[in-house]
Amino acid sequence: MPVTYSHSRLSTFENCPRQYRYRYLDKLPRPGPGIEAYVGICVHKALEFYFGELRAGRPAPSRADLLAVYEEAWSATSVAGLRIVKTGFDSNDYHLLGRHCLEIYEAEAAESEFGEVLGLEKKIHIRLGKTGSYRLIGYIDRFMRGADGVYEIHDYKTSGSLPRPQDIQQDRQLALYELGVRGELPAAARVRHVWHYLTFGRRFQRILSSTQLQGFARATTAAIRRVEKETEFAARTRILCHWCDFKDHCPEGREYLENQPKPGLPVAER
Ligand code: SF4
Repeated sequence: MPVTYSHSRLSTFENCPRQYRYRYLDKLPRPGPGIEAYVGICVHKALEFYFGELRAGRPAPSRADLLAVYEEAWSATSVAGLRIVKTGFDSNDYHLLGRHCLEIYEAEAAESEFGEVLGLEKKIHIRLGKTGSYRLIGYIDRFMRGADGVYEIHDYKTSGSLPRPQDIQQDRQLALYELGVRGELPAAARVRHVWHYLTFGRRFQRILSSTQLQGFARATTAAIRRVEKETEFAARTRILCHWCDFKDHCPEGREYLENQPKPGLPVAER
């Protein structure tokens, strides 16, 4: 059966081939989400509710209703069982971080941003390679037609750091989603990528030329070929080993972490 790739699967390989092997080839059991990922899940659920109401033609929910959905999602899991890596933080800090993201989003979201909601958590299929033999999937947080008629791919981030300009320009994830959108809507003239860095109340945008988009397609095809040729799956130890699902299983990771202080890093990505 052909492998179905995703941006996150490729990123796992690029960050640490050993982690890729443990997760996707050996299929080792994974612990539940860390608390940073759980904040992201709960914030995404609340925003899915918010824009679902607009998509259904109902008025924008109040801040209280938005936060009520967040609280319901937050209380669905015992947070005591979630991993907290950073020193000096407890579950209450993360709970408040999610509320903060939603409060500033709700306060600053302009009606003009809303446009027409076309899909939420929209599954997208991408085919790459000369014969389309490489398959990828992704999920668009919010797919819209903006007030100016341009299609928009929105992505929510709850990370604790802002991207650099080159991070926005080099982002592969939303380029892949655009390739999937264009497979469904070949007549789409322009597609805008919108990132919401919710912790900071900041948004970033990009529109790729067709040349740039094809560059992402070629680079991703090359990345898949590298994965498929790999035989060593070397461990790449670094600070992110602290968050690795397999750090207790990985000899190199264990040795590295024994000599490292616990981090005070920004909140990791969902
Ligand atoms: S602990 Fe570190 S080196 Fe080992 S698999 Fe995880 S990320 Fe890779």
